[in-house]
Amino acid sequence: MNIAILPLSDDKKKAKCADESKLGFGRLFTDRMLLVEWKTGEGWVDGRIEPYGPFSLDPACSVFHYSQEIFEGLKAYKWADGTITLFRPEMNARRFNQSADRLCMPEVPEDIFIGGIEKLVSLERDWIPSSEGTSLYIRPTMIGVEPALGVKPADHYYFYVILSPVGAYYSAGFNPIKIMVEDNYVRSVPGGTGEAKTGGNYACSLKAGLEAKKKGYDQVLWLDGVHKRYVEEVGAMNMLFAYGKTIVTSPLTGTILNGVTRDSTLKLAASLGYTVEERLIDVNELMADVRSGKVTEAFGSGTAAVISPVGVLAYKGEDYMVGDGGVGAITRQLYDTLTGIQTGRLEDRFGWVRK
Ligand code: PMP
Repeated sequence: MNIAILPLSDDKKKAKCADESKLGFGRLFTDRMLLVEWKTGEGWVDGRIEPYGPFSLDPACSVFHYSQEIFEGLKAYKWADGTITLFRPEMNARRFNQSADRLCMPEVPEDIFIGGIEKLVSLERDWIPSSEGTSLYIRPTMIGVEPALGVKPADHYYFYVILSPVGAYYSAGFNPIKIMVEDNYVRSVPGGTGEAKTGGNYACSLKAGLEAKKKGYDQVLWLDGVHKRYVEEVGAMNMLFAYGKTIVTSPLTGTILNGVTRDSTLKLAASLGYTVEERLIDVNELMADVRSGKVTEAFGSGTAAVISPVGVLAYKGEDYMVGDGGVGAITRQLYDTLTGIQTGRLEDRFGWVRK
């Protein structure tokens, strides 16, 4: 599809953040955005890159009432030599279309999803921060915009992409977080939307997150929605556990997100000589294994933080320290290697980097 580039007047240009250590996450947005519309009978039309700004939408739009919304999250990096790269964007494109299918939304072809992102990022290249740990976060989104209150798939959609320069996730150092196993609320059930990246999954998780924060934990670890027995994933991360040289994570059974970082971590770990197991993890066995020291490390994987060390797991009011509560050697090795590949410090033997 031909994507038009609309003019950007000087008064629409924003000041860039002078101090990259103050960027934070997802608060500042670049000058332009990509917008493509889909209409029944016409397909994808009117692709354009236009000045970043608010939409004017009818209050009856389907997204506002029945949450017909999906999104993705990936990053662009500026390497020391100036090369600009994306990390495995084809995986985000595929997952976006799986989410679209689940929410009865139209498929976005790769030339619009990846081609549009490449064109937008290239135009906004001056917004990509370059200091250690920073990147340009990319947020592709699709919403139903038909103004009609009947419960049905919309006949009109916006696919749009916004960009946000983001700071180093670990500004205070690579420190372990505390996670509470959630045994009251559930996020996902078989046949539900847990595998899709749709806003409703996050809206329904807020209450558990707030309650855990009040108790002093950073995030919750969800259990399966039927038995509250098997460990699934954390708020915006998949969970992995090291049993010595074996790395264990929950299988993709349809209730958790198929994380790009999860997949990359498992492939990387296998190539580094670790044994990788995707299997159901019984929470009672897991907590006993943490207590006995069989579980030597625990960490989350996700685009925002890449790898997040977990120092404490709490279950039914009791804290369980993982290892010595610090950052384990495997956790650090996987973090250093993955971020090394993403930022061009290490060779990409997997073909993950797209220049
Ligand atoms: N699970 C959930 C629920 C998430 O929101 C995310 C973040 N996208 C992840 C896992 C990690 O996925 P990825 O590695 O693709 O960022």
